Amino acid sequence: MELVKIEGLNPREYEHPLDRNALNVLEKTAGLDLLVRKFFDLGVEKFLRLEFVGSNLKVTPSSFPEIYEILEEACEILNLKTTPEIYVRPDDYFRKLEVSTNNLEGLTVGVEKPLVVISNVCIESFSRSELLFILGCQIGRLKSQHVLYENIGWLFPILSSTISDVMASIPGVGAISSTFTAGLYLALVHWLRMADYTADRAGLLACQDVNSAMTAMAKIAGLPQKFFDSFSLDDFVTQAREFEGFADTTYNKILKVLSLSLRDQAFTIARANELLQWIDSGNYQAILERKTKIHLAPPPSFCRHCGFKLEPSDAFCRNCGQKVST
Ligand SMILES: [Zn+2]
Repeated sequence: MELVKIEGLNPREYEHPLDRNALNVLEKTAGLDLLVRKFFDLGVEKFLRLEFVGSNLKVTPSSFPEIYEILEEACEILNLKTTPEIYVRPDDYFRKLEVSTNNLEGLTVGVEKPLVVISNVCIESFSRSELLFILGCQIGRLKSQHVLYENIGWLFPILSSTISDVMASIPGVGAISSTFTAGLYLALVHWLRMADYTADRAGLLACQDVNSAMTAMAKIAGLPQKFFDSFSLDDFVTQAREFEGFADTTYNKILKVLSLSLRDQAFTIARANELLQWIDSGNYQAILERKTKIHLAPPPSFCRHCGFKLEPSDAFCRNCGQKVST
């Protein structure tokens, strides 16, 4: 089946409203700009790059042609102009780094020169179409400019310890700086969870096959390899459709708090439920048929907050940490 290349796709076309809401809350939370500035000041991106580039296998058109081709295809379908670098890591690598991520899902690191990392188990577990879903999720994170806040979320303990000194020196803030960091962390972790909903939509738009998206999610949820062929996808879809926990606002409030202790959970059933609802709404089909096109103004060349000169690719001001709004 020929997949549709979604011409001019803008992430706002498929952004999940809960992602937008959580992002608005996060961006209004005190201290985030300090964290962003620290991220650039400390050269964290360079450190993260070295970690991955120095440890993992680079996927090239000659070393892993099938994988590279899938990544290129995901970029082409989702209208991302530059194909990021991609690396393969050993299965247990992130557990050692204490970065919480499911070992079947990919991740993306870096803002200036982003790179996508997937595990060897990920390659072995997924079909071509499922890998398009998995890599499409990561391309979606790049398109939505999620990567900076995600990376900050992983490195929060290190970055926040460097800003607590700064906060302590602000009159009236010092005494409550730990409350600040706790509130900021909660907002970050909650947003990370909601951002998954948007990434899943990008994954589906990349593979354009609901069954592949669902089987990929079932595998992330823990489907054992020996049941890959006999697994009933209908049962998984039924389970996902019956799930209604987080739609209720009370549950949503509790979830925000639980997010901290359940950080390692992939919440795959909730995510499958959200994805199915989106398909039912008709928006997925409308995007493929290009009925949802939006045109945005080009990015500004100076930070509206502090006046610092911006590069066209800057999503965040390197001087004050404010998001570049378009
Ligand atoms: Zn600025």
